[in-house]
Amino acid sequence: MRMKIDVLTIFPEFFREVFDFGIIRRAKLAKIVEINVCDIRSFTTDKHEKTDDRPFGGGDGMVMKCEPIFRAIEEIIGTCERENYPSGMKVVLLSPQGKQFKQSVAREFADEAKHLILICGRYEGVDERVNDVLVTDEISIGDYVLSGGEAAAIVLTDAIVRLLPNALGSETSAVNDSFTEDLLDYPHYTQPREFRGMEVPEVLLSGNHAEIEKWRKEKAFEKTLNFRKDLLEKEHS
Ligand code: SAH
Repeated sequence: MRMKIDVLTIFPEFFREVFDFGIIRRAKLAKIVEINVCDIRSFTTDKHEKTDDRPFGGGDGMVMKCEPIFRAIEEIIGTCERENYPSGMKVVLLSPQGKQFKQSVAREFADEAKHLILICGRYEGVDERVNDVLVTDEISIGDYVLSGGEAAAIVLTDAIVRLLPNALGSETSAVNDSFTEDLLDYPHYTQPREFRGMEVPEVLLSGNHAEIEKWRKEKAFEKTLNFRKDLLEKEHS
């Protein structure tokens, strides 16, 4: 097993089938990744199985309690002390306040992490002590607020697992994917050659691989220039 992923959530049903399609399903079957969804509620000890409570200091909404999350981490990792985590252990809190998730971050996790725990918040968020003590990486999937971390956990899992060695079959590859070289991907076409008067670019039918390669490079550059100029302006250090 190359990577183990544990998702901590109060809505385990949310994930019922979401990892059972395409590349993720295949990676699971090939034992490249193991994905477990853990119900935070099962780590409560009170009779009402409380996972959230009113915020200290007042204000709207509820806050996710820290005890069940500490207990979950303790059970899964064997320790709650960040310094004692085994190497390759990443405890991620999904949060709009975190570092922004990008292809480069997905690549980093795919290369370095052996065991990923994804903590999904709900309501107003998670008691800050979880962040202070347990979390190694606070990650946001973008500058917008979701109602819960579950959708973000799915985004991370998908983007990371497809980068694990052998996860993509021979028929697909990540080398030309958007963002891999700070470029967007080139345009793709398949059958039919002509559809409602729209023709596939002639060069792709030419069989001239050098020309096709050149055209694809140009198109990738053109698309990046038109839609994501910021990628080209990035500092390369
Ligand atoms: N009050 C918080 C937002 C809470 S949203 C704030 O303003 O910062 C509830 C939960 O959804 C969060 O705890 C987090 O787990 C998840 N979430 C919301 N937006 C997210 C984003 N952009 N990226 C990752 N997780 C997000």
